[in-house]
This record gives sequence, structure tokens and C-alpha cells, in this order.
Amino acid sequence: MAPWDYPDYDAHEAVHFFHDAATGLAAIIAIHSTVLGPAAGGCRYWSYARAEEAVTDALRLSRGMSFKNAMAGLPIGGGKAVILADAARPKTPELLAAFGRAVESLGGRYVTAEDVGISDRDMVEIARATRYVSGLPVAGHGDAGGDPGPFTALGVYLGVRAAVRRGLGRADMAGVHVAIQGVGSVGGGLARLLARDGARLTLADVHADRAAALAAELGAETVAADAILSVAADVVSPCALGAVLDAGSIAALQAPVVAGGANNQLATPEDGWRIHQRGIVYAPDYVINAGGIINVGLEYLGQGDRAEVESRIAEIPGRLDRIWEESAATGDPAAIVADRLAQKLIGR
Ligand code: NAD
Repeated sequence: MAPWDYPDYDAHEAVHFFHDAATGLAAIIAIHSTVLGPAAGGCRYWSYARAEEAVTDALRLSRGMSFKNAMAGLPIGGGKAVILADAARPKTPELLAAFGRAVESLGGRYVTAEDVGISDRDMVEIARATRYVSGLPVAGHGDAGGDPGPFTALGVYLGVRAAVRRGLGRADMAGVHVAIQGVGSVGGGLARLLARDGARLTLADVHADRAAALAAELGAETVAADAILSVAADVVSPCALGAVLDAGSIAALQAPVVAGGANNQLATPEDGWRIHQRGIVYAPDYVINAGGIINVGLEYLGQGDRAEVESRIAEIPGRLDRIWEESAATGDPAAIVADRLAQKLIGR
């Protein structure tokens, strides 16, 4: 099937397929839009059952990056890379260098960074073969860049506070009950920031020991991973995988606010309507979770230090407020309003 025959093809500017005979590298780089600047987005290293799923992932994720980067106010476009993982071609330094050469061959139209399955150590290997890289370990304490997780967590924390103001009319978090799905880099960081404010926390992770350890540290409760979205909390915060908000889980939500860091939380566009029709305050994922890309984006552009990154992340609550205002004024779901604003920014 040609890329433009995929349901997720959205007038992407280019979709590149790479193969390297020596290492077995099989990779796709999808460039959705370079209207605002070079297409930036992470590289996912993942084992797909079928190659078509890898193409779909690259198409969908690169479009998401266009929207996320535009809404974050960054002068960068949207792209994404996928390396097809296979036990027969392990993630060696040579394979990562072959991927780096693929990125380099695009002459800067695409800038890579970490995503699922790619660490900052892997980025160092990739950077040996291309200069179009971000998310490298930072050299100095006050620099932008490095692991984006804590910056994403900071933005989500500020977004949760904004959503609580909007949905509950509360200016502080003391005693506000937040249920967090997934306590990894983003969810764990969020939990620590909320605990500092005196929020009541319920945590869940498929690695139950991870949730239990953090709960013991923060004085939080835990529930089973399959029960977290329907906890009778004030806020549900999806910070694990995508597509967790579908007809079933939305019907079972008991919280008046959903605000979390996971990418692609809504299983389908209809789920944006479902959550809206239930009167739940929903923070569009790519707006609230932009802290990490703000960090690596400014690192790549060489436009500022850590203080600048934090001041740009502090703009996330205002952006969410504008989306909720427009949602209230138009009757459209927050997710649709966010897409509309992002499309306008990239001239679609
Ligand atoms: P992570 O791997 O550090 O943590 C994810 C955690 O979720 C893990 O502890 C995992 O065990 C848990 N988990 C997985 N499935 C679960 C389930 N069904 N129920 C409960 N827990 C589950 O990943 P992360 O970096 O914290 O990213 C979390 C989400 O945020 C992802 O959707 C990611 O795409 C998104 N995101 C991350 C960043 C970032 O900077 N790290 C930026 C933007 C978006």
C-alpha cells in the first residue's frame, strides 16, 4: 500500500523508508510538516507485528508532533522516526549509526530525539553520524536538554493545577484527590510534585511494585492497574499508554477532570465528544505534555537555558485555559478546539 492510501495519511510532506544491508536497519522517517521549521520528533524503537503498523505509527505520531510543536509555540515542524525492532538485528551501535546516517541524509529536514525504546545513551551513538539530533545528555546544570521526562512532568503538573481551577474552582491542591495511571518518568515526577502540594494520591502501575514503592515514599494509596481510571477521585491523570480513553472507560470515569501526560489518550476522535458530553474537563494531551519537547526543542535551536525552558513550560496553563474558553464558547470538545488551533498554526 502506498503511504497516501493509509487512513492516517494527512498530506504528509514526505515518508522515507530506509534499509541498511550491513546492520539490517529498517526504519521509517515521516515528515508531516516543515511549515514552522525543521520537522522534530523522537525515534521509536519497537517490534511491530506487521510493517503496516509501523507506517501507521510513523504517520500518526509525526502528525501529532506537528500539532504539539505548533501549540507549544516552537519554531519547529512535526516528524517522527520508527526503527523496526527485530531479534535478528539487535540495537547495536552500528545499527544506531546507520539510523544516524539516514537522518543526516535528509539534510536537517528531520531532527531526531528519544522516544519509546531509545535512551539518551542511544542518542549519543546516533549523534556520531548526524548533527540533526536533540535530547543528548546535558553538559552543564543550567543547560536546556537531556531527559525530557522531568520537564514533561512539570508541564503536566501545572496543567493539572489549571484543570483543577477550571473544573473544581480550587486554587490550591491540598487534599485534592488525583489518581495517576503509570508512575514512570512522567507519572512519577507528577506524583512527587503533587505530593509537595499536599494532594491526596492514588497510584497504579502494571509494575505494581513500582507503584507500591512510590506510594510508600509519598504516603499515597495504590489500586490495581485496571481500576485506576474509575477511581472516585477529583482528577484522573493518564500517564502510561495511549488510547486509554474509549467508550467503556469514559462511561466509567468518576472524576470531573482528566489531565495527564500520556500521548494519544483518546482512542478515537469520537471519544473527544464522549468526554465533553459527560461535562468532564479534559486537557488535550499534546498541549499539557509539551514540556519535554519545549526542553529538547530549545536545546536543538540553541535558544535558551533551563530558566527559559521553565518559563515556556509555565505558558501551558494559559494555553489550556484558552482552549477551555473556546470549547465553552463553541460547544466543541477541547480536543477538537486544540486540533483546530494547531491546524491553523501550520496552515492546514
Ligand atoms: P515510562 O516508561 O517511564 O513510564 C510509563 C509507566 O507506565 C511504566 O511504569 C509502566 O509500567 C506503566 N504502565 C504501562 N502500561 C500501564 C497500564 N496499562 N496501567 C498502569 N501503568 C502502566 O514512560 P514515560 O516517559 O513516563 O511516558 C509516559 C507517557 O507519557 C507515554 O504515553 C509517553 O508517550 C508520554 N510522554 C512522555 C514524555 C516524556 O518526556 N517522557 C513526553 C510526552 C509524552
